[in-house]
Amino acid sequence: MLVILSGVSGAGKDTIKKELIKRMDNVISLPSYTSRKPRVGEKEGLQYHFITKQEFEQKIANNEFYEYDLHHENYYGTSRKLMNEKIATGKIIVKDIEVNGTENLIKLLKDKTKLITIFLRVEKEELKRRLIARGDNLSEDEIDLRLGRLDYEETKIHLYDYMIKNDDFEKTVKLIMAIIENESKI
Ligand code: 5GP
Repeated sequence: MLVILSGVSGAGKDTIKKELIKRMDNVISLPSYTSRKPRVGEKEGLQYHFITKQEFEQKIANNEFYEYDLHHENYYGTSRKLMNEKIATGKIIVKDIEVNGTENLIKLLKDKTKLITIFLRVEKEELKRRLIARGDNLSEDEIDLRLGRLDYEETKIHLYDYMIKNDDFEKTVKLIMAIIENESKI
């Protein structure tokens, strides 16, 4: 089973994903490939495999991705090989992907594995506060770019099975755990 978490950068997907893995025995993550530089504290191979733009483009040419997207001027993509290996373990994979990637994965994987899609919603003002507090030293322009992205991502909410307003971390984690537990019984 694949659980996709979406929502703009700063909506809390990564923190929630880590918490689900910590609290649920059979939940695992699936690293993506990206051409963006690692942030402080990010380790190779956990959330991402960090590669250069040229290496990424070579992988695109070799058809190594189920889907990829150019997002805030960096590439992000889901490896076919890694995804197939993780699906074969029979565990529940939790993955955070932006809306275009989700749209593609729904088409590609819906007959291959059970797919649950969850959109994490956050208010614009709250998002701005989180982006500033995150300590990535984003410029005003970069913050505006991410805020602008929120409007676009919200136009895709209809693609998702669930929408959760992420204004309370504990509540959100418990809701997603309940969704995963219930969906895995169906
Ligand atoms: P960040 O740079 O903040 O880690 O991620 C930026 C965006 O890229 C997030 O919305 C995240 O969900 C998305 N992302 C991460 N991995 C993938 C992937 O494999 N494919 C796609 N399409 N988007 C991804």
